[in-house]
Amino acid sequence: MILGGIEAGGTKFVCVVGTGKGEILKRKVIPTTNPEETLNAVITFYRDQFIEGLGIASFGPVAVNPDHPRYGSILATPKAGWANTPILQILKDALGCPVAIDTDVNVAALAEAEKGKAWDVKTCLYLTIGTGVGGGYYDGELLHGRLHPEMGHILLPTGKDDFKGICPFHGNCLEGLISGPAIEARAGKKAQLLEEDSPIWDEVAETIAQGLVNFQMVLSPERIILGGGVMHQKHLFPRIHKAFYRLINGYLPFTEEEVECHIVSPGLGDDTGSVGALMLALKGLKQGQSAFEG
Ligand SMILES: [Zn+2]
Repeated sequence: MILGGIEAGGTKFVCVVGTGKGEILKRKVIPTTNPEETLNAVITFYRDQFIEGLGIASFGPVAVNPDHPRYGSILATPKAGWANTPILQILKDALGCPVAIDTDVNVAALAEAEKGKAWDVKTCLYLTIGTGVGGGYYDGELLHGRLHPEMGHILLPTGKDDFKGICPFHGNCLEGLISGPAIEARAGKKAQLLEEDSPIWDEVAETIAQGLVNFQMVLSPERIILGGGVMHQKHLFPRIHKAFYRLINGYLPFTEEEVECHIVSPGLGDDTGSVGALMLALKGLKQGQSAFEG
C-alpha cells in the first residue's frame, strides 16, 4: 500500500511517500511560506504518486477532533497567513484520497508506539522539549478532547533560583521554565553553550521530572519518550531519572532501574514525524473502512 505522510512544520513541510509498514520511499522538503504557495507545491508533489491515503502531522493549534466544526483547519496560529487554513479539506479535494490529521506530537507518540521505543507497550506519552514544549498521548487512540492536549502549559513551581519563566500566557508553565529560550533566559547564554555541570541543568531536570510525575499520575503511560533539541543534552536523562524516582517517592511501583527504561529518548530519530504521518494515514484508512462497513 502506498501512502503519503506530511510533517507540517512552521519552517518546512517534509512530504514523504511510503508504505503502510512505515518504509519511506521518497521525500521532498517544501519551505513553509504562505498557505497557497506551500500547499500548491505539496499537491504538485503528490499528484503523480498514486497514494491511497495521506496523513498530516501538523503544527498547532489545529482542529483534530472530527466533531469540531472546523475539523482539519489550522486555528489561531501566530504563523503569518496560516490561521484558519482548512489544510485537510484543501488536500483532500486536490488529491482525491482519504486524509487524516493530528498534532505533530500526537503523531510522534503514534510513531514511537508503532515503530519506535514503545513498540512493546500499549500506552505511550511523547514530549518534545525544544523551542516550545508539547506532548502527545497514544493508548490505541490519540488523545484529543476539547481541542488537543497542550502539555507544555501545565503550571509548575519556580525553582530554587526563583526564575519566573517566560511563557507570555503563564510565566512558570513547563514551557515557560524549560524550553530552549527559557533556559537561555535563565542562563544568559544559549542552552547548547551552558556547561554540563551548571546547576541550572539540575533545576531544568527537576522541573521536567515534576512535569513527568504529573503526566504519570494523570495518564499512567507505560513509556515516556523525550524528544526535541533540549533533550540532545544527553546528561539530562540520568538527572531526570533520579528526580522522577525521588518525586514518585514510592507511591507508584517503580524501581530506579525501571525508571531508566521508562523515560527514554526517541527510537526513530529524525524520521519520527514522517513515519508517524504514514502510520496516521494507515489508521485513517482503516477507520474510514470500518465506518463504511459498519
Ligand atoms: Zn504557558
